[in-house]
Order: sequence, then structure tokens, then C-alpha cells
Amino acid sequence: MRFHKAETAFFVFIAVVFLAGVVILHAYSLHKPAVGAGIPASLDQHLFAAAVLIATAILFGVFFIYPIIRTQVREEGKLRAMTAALSHRSETLQQAALTDALTGMQNRRYFDEALREYLDAFRSVDKPLGLLILDLDHFKQINDTHGHDVGDQVLREVGVNLRAVTRFHDVLARLGGEGFALVVPNLNEAELVDFAGRIRNAVAQVLVTTPRGRIRVTASIGAAVWDGRENAEEFFRRADTRLYEAKRSGRNRVSA
Ligand code: GH3
Ligand code: MG
Repeated sequence: MRFHKAETAFFVFIAVVFLAGVVILHAYSLHKPAVGAGIPASLDQHLFAAAVLIATAILFGVFFIYPIIRTQVREEGKLRAMTAALSHRSETLQQAALTDALTGMQNRRYFDEALREYLDAFRSVDKPLGLLILDLDHFKQINDTHGHDVGDQVLREVGVNLRAVTRFHDVLARLGGEGFALVVPNLNEAELVDFAGRIRNAVAQVLVTTPRGRIRVTASIGAAVWDGRENAEEFFRRADTRLYEAKRSGRNRVSA
């Protein structure tokens, strides 16, 4: 078994103090002074030896053990700060892997996972689970007319407005490009269509002002309530088909 430097130092300290105690005891047993007698010279020597040992122990403690402990405490603090920073970094990375950098919304990866989890959870409860898939209309025109940066700004504003109308247990994500999706629990078909209408209005409220004029944008939305049997891909495909019906029948509308 190998001892750490601080442990060795501690044992030396204890040994020196112990030795000092032995010397004192030894001196006491050898020279127990008779009542009224003066202190014999040999006791003086023993006490001096004990005092030297104790002083050595104290010096050893102050100049050797204490600095070791101090260094260890400092290093431990540094290590703790380092691991805290690392775990914060990994949390941030994890967060980044699930967040859309442009809008700050959840991304496709998060959405796919969340939809699967919601389906698993709703399999055992008798509540509806809705899905809205939304795509901005003629978004390419905005990019072409006003530039990509303005397009990005429109996407960010859409994100802000969508977030404002969603409830905390709705999952809102940007799927990519100008497509978004919402998992909406606890609304029946009629309520879901009503909610989709509010989402459509929230997008229509977006107003981006540029030197070349004001930009408005509309969205087409496909809505579906889970039938209780579909897997996530099938459910998504059904809502997506509705979205394309909304596009085909003129855009800026909800298809359910
Ligand atoms: P539709 O009404 O049929 O949906 O037409 P659209 O123009 O919205 O759809 P289309 O798929 O033709 O064009 C989508 C455009 O969105 C093309 C692409 O350059 C643009 N786009 C995709 N991602 C981004 C982005 O992150 N920022 C910006 N500014 N534009 C993007
Ligand atoms: Mg589009």
C-alpha cells in the first residue's frame, strides 16, 4: 500500500507527538520528584527533549503538512470548477443538438423523439393527441425578393408568434426550411381545427418591415388527430398529406 505525501506527513507528525509523550512519561517515572524537592537536572533534560520534539512537530505541521493540505484543497476546487464547466458544456451541447439555431425552437430530431414519446404515453390514456404540420406559403418569393437575411428574420418572427399561442405541453418544432410542427395533446378534432386556425392567424400577424416595404406571410396547415394505432411515421404522413391538400386547395388554410 502506497501512502500519499500528506498521509506520510501526518504519520510523521503523530509519531513525533507520540515520542514527545513517551519522553515526558519516561522522565516522570524516572524522576518523580519527592514532595518539597527541587526539579532534578535530568528531568530538565528530558523536558527539554520533549519540548524540542513538540516544537519540531508544530513546525513540521505548519511548514509541511499545512501547505500540502492547502494545495490539495486548491486543486480540488480547481477540479470541481473544471468538472462543473465540463458538465455545463455537455449540457449546452446536448441542448444545441436538439435546438434549431435560427429560431431557438426545438429541432426535427427533438420533434421525432417527442412524437414517439407522446404516442407511447397516449396509448394508455383515453385522450386525443393532435398533430399540426405547417408550411409557410411562397416563402421562396420572400427570399428571392428581399434576400435570405430577411427570410431568416421572417422565420424568427414566425417562431416568436407561434410560441406565443402554444401551451406549455404542446411540442413546437421547426422541422427545417419553412416547415414547423406542433404536437398538441388533449384537443379533439374540432378543437384542434380551431387551434390550427389560431396558429394560422398568429403567422398572419407577422409583420417584418424592410427598406423595400412591409412583408407579411401566410401558412398552410395540415391537422390530424391520432387514431390510436398509427406509429409516429404513419401519423406524421397523414398530417403531411393534409398539409399538401391545404397547399393544393389554395394555401393560407387548414386542412383536416
Ligand atoms: P409553397 O407555398 O409551395 O410552400 O412555396 P415555398 O416557396 O414556400 O416553398 P419552396 O419549397 O419552393 O421554397 C422554400 C424556400 O425556403 C426555399 C429555401 O431557399 C428557403 N429556405 C429554406 N430554409 C431557409 C432558411 O433557413 N432561411 C431562409 N431565409 N430561407 C430558407
Ligand atoms: Mg413553403
